[in-house]
Amino acid sequence: VLEIDLAKRRLRVRQTESGAESWQNFDQLVIATGTLPIRPQVPGIDSTGIYGIQTLEDGLKLRRVLDAGNASKVVIVGGGYIGIEMAEAMIQRGLEVVLIDMLPQVMGTLDPDMAALVSDAVVKAGISLALGEKLEGFETGPDGLRSVITDRRRISADIVILGLGVRPNTKLAEEAGLALGLKQSIKVNDRMQTGADGIWAVGDCVESYHLVSRQPFWVALGTVANKQGRVAGINIGGGNAVFPGVVGTAVTKFCGTEIARTGLQKREIEQLGLDYATSRIEGRTRAGYFPGTARIVLKLHAERKSLRLLGGQIVGEQGSAKRIDVLVTALHAGLTVQDIIGLDLGYAPPYSTVWDAIQIAARRLGSELRN
Ligand SMILES: Cc1cc2nc3c(=O)[nH]c(=O)nc-3n(C[C@H](O)[C@H](O)[C@H](O)COP(=O)(O)OP(=O)(O)OC[C@H]3O[C@@H](n4cnc5c(N)ncnc54)[C@H](O)[C@@H]3O)c2cc1C
Repeated sequence: VLEIDLAKRRLRVRQTESGAESWQNFDQLVIATGTLPIRPQVPGIDSTGIYGIQTLEDGLKLRRVLDAGNASKVVIVGGGYIGIEMAEAMIQRGLEVVLIDMLPQVMGTLDPDMAALVSDAVVKAGISLALGEKLEGFETGPDGLRSVITDRRRISADIVILGLGVRPNTKLAEEAGLALGLKQSIKVNDRMQTGADGIWAVGDCVESYHLVSRQPFWVALGTVANKQGRVAGINIGGGNAVFPGVVGTAVTKFCGTEIARTGLQKREIEQLGLDYATSRIEGRTRAGYFPGTARIVLKLHAERKSLRLLGGQIVGEQGSAKRIDVLVTALHAGLTVQDIIGLDLGYAPPYSTVWDAIQIAARRLGSELRN
């Protein structure tokens, strides 16, 4: 789609294979154009050997190159979840991996102390982790990529994988005159309608609403995109559905380390100027004596005035990450720390300790809030 003509309710379309252009009419239009990967405009960025991981085809292309067996040194740029997941994939292939990020921590959506646990796991897996190091360009030779140049040094590389994040792909919507919000994402109401009649927008290209900060928010996740698509579909079909908003939930893993977060992190809470308390505990995923019991570190933030939960983060071994869903539910329901302490969570030795790690952290937070 090259152009949306709102006045005449039609799209200018080009067939990718033949190049033939035509206009197509519509009654209702759903814009779901997703995101574009961020590619820094540094010297050498267009040389062969530099890969983004945005589509399935990107993944297949990279795998074909790795399967050919000519690459042994991989540099990953970006320590977010894509960078971390790619680091796991590369180290499991036995490659030499350097991961660089210009921030002082990996996983910028975690508080620094929780992100440090992920860094520990990355380093322990044999990856050379370089934080606070900025990409400045790539050095190439006649046979392609030679090295990555940073503000500190030159790192020899056969392959580079970029994991620098994405931005909403909304040029079409903008040119059509639709209102944009945060990070140029498309503004929609809770029925996924844009400001124009019969024009809907869903997924990574739209602005969401954060139920904890009570402010507009932008997130690019499949779980959110799917729910928004369903809501738009019901409404277009004559039903009445709303998308309530998000609480900023994400889960991922690096080798044996599970990572989860929801709600607001320390930095966001402080930006909002809220008075808050924090607890951080280390617990077990199963009864201490039960086979397979594993370490879980859990951190919670709550508002002092209302006692409502503001956010939670988990880094732990197997069985840790999906505990975040209890906190997600608490955030959606606006539960206080006392409410969480009283939740009738299930217990048997194979599944948790008698007080689940979540409730141990909530009790500690309750004490902090009384101080
Ligand atoms: C490597 C990777 C791992 C991920 N892992 C997770 C995960 O574990 N959990 C999770 O929740 N999310 C994950 N995501 C995010 C998830 O994939 C996206 O949030 C989701 O695909 C967004 O869906 P969407 O329909 O909004 O956009 P997309 O799936 O990006 O679809 C947009 C489509 O629109 C097409 N398009 C764009 N412009 C035009 C145009 N002008 N004309 C015609 N077509 C156009 C594009 O080609 C594309 O096919 C991951 C993403 C990546 C890249």
